[in-house]
Amino acid sequence: MPERLSKARRLVVKIGSALLVDEATGAIRRDWFESLAADIAACRKRGQEVMIVSSGSIALGRKRLGFARGLLKLEESQAAAATGQIQLAHAYEEALARHGITVAQILLTLDDTEQRRRYLNARSTLNMLLRQGAVPVINENDTVATSEIRYGDNDRLAGRVAQMTGADCLVLLSDVDGLYDADPNGNPDAAIIPEVREITREIEAMAGTTRSDYGTGGMVTKLKAGKIALAAGCHMVIADGHRMNPLAAVQGGGPCTWFVPGGNPRTARKQWIAGTLEPSGSLTIDDGAVKALAAGKSLLPAGVTAVEGRFDRGEAVIVRDAAGTEVGRGLCAYASADARRIMGYKSREIEGLLGYRGRDEMIHRDDLVMA
Ligand code: GLU
Repeated sequence: MPERLSKARRLVVKIGSALLVDEATGAIRRDWFESLAADIAACRKRGQEVMIVSSGSIALGRKRLGFARGLLKLEESQAAAATGQIQLAHAYEEALARHGITVAQILLTLDDTEQRRRYLNARSTLNMLLRQGAVPVINENDTVATSEIRYGDNDRLAGRVAQMTGADCLVLLSDVDGLYDADPNGNPDAAIIPEVREITREIEAMAGTTRSDYGTGGMVTKLKAGKIALAAGCHMVIADGHRMNPLAAVQGGGPCTWFVPGGNPRTARKQWIAGTLEPSGSLTIDDGAVKALAAGKSLLPAGVTAVEGRFDRGEAVIVRDAAGTEVGRGLCAYASADARRIMGYKSREIEGLLGYRGRDEMIHRDDLVMA
């Protein structure tokens, strides 16, 4: 189903270290890299939004810092990442600038995606970059991430980025061309599974049989990324990235494994807001705001008449009309104390009231589910 890629509105492309970096020289594989940049430019031309999750900082930096081959200690890989990340970002900037594309570097830690407040911040930065037509180049912030609290592999990070931005397609480019039903080495009957609709135990058992690149992730982390993506209503594809123009190859029907979700990102995300969170407070709104929300608008502070409960910024709250009936649920962009201070006021008055310039909306419509 190659059109799943060409028709996606918002794409996340994960590039593994083995594709980007020549293991022998520790340098970027230039020709291949240019062909990838051309593919990304083609996606942008079609109007698709693209995010890149790229590994390679450690592989690029280790040679420069003179670390020997083999496994690095944590502090060695952190040091390698600190220098390699500069080269990595520079390479993307240079290659995509030739196609008139602006890149933006985002370095995330696990906390940035697991703590709701920071998650919201990272998400709005990504959304803003996409709105401005930039291509975010994302990696884990390896220089500060410690062993207990890090992703360690960019497969799951890419899954999280796809989920957090409501992407509809996640492409994992690696040196395997998909998920095999048996070990392809020495097993002539082993075949790629073209489509997976649910990551069952049986599928997970197959992951053990497929080798993967010299980056941290293997097929196991790819399936973990798949679980995150599918739950968020996002398609995922595992394809061989070694060939030139690897995205065009997937679009051309090349070998790969597609993971197909049941719903679409919006419904999955809104289900999450509506159902799985324990609301810790509520907002009462006036009739004008009820009408605005019903028309698909965001909730502004001006329409809020009361704030109940204690909650942090980004937590789920119930939205009620003047009679106390639940009209919806959403993620409030302000903590309860600040929400109380700005309720009833115009958005442009927020800065004067709080001393910082927060969001114009109390609950953005993307974070709101009507009852
Ligand atoms: N963040 C690591 C790097 O850029 C790679 C992690 C992975 O191999 O998935 O070198």
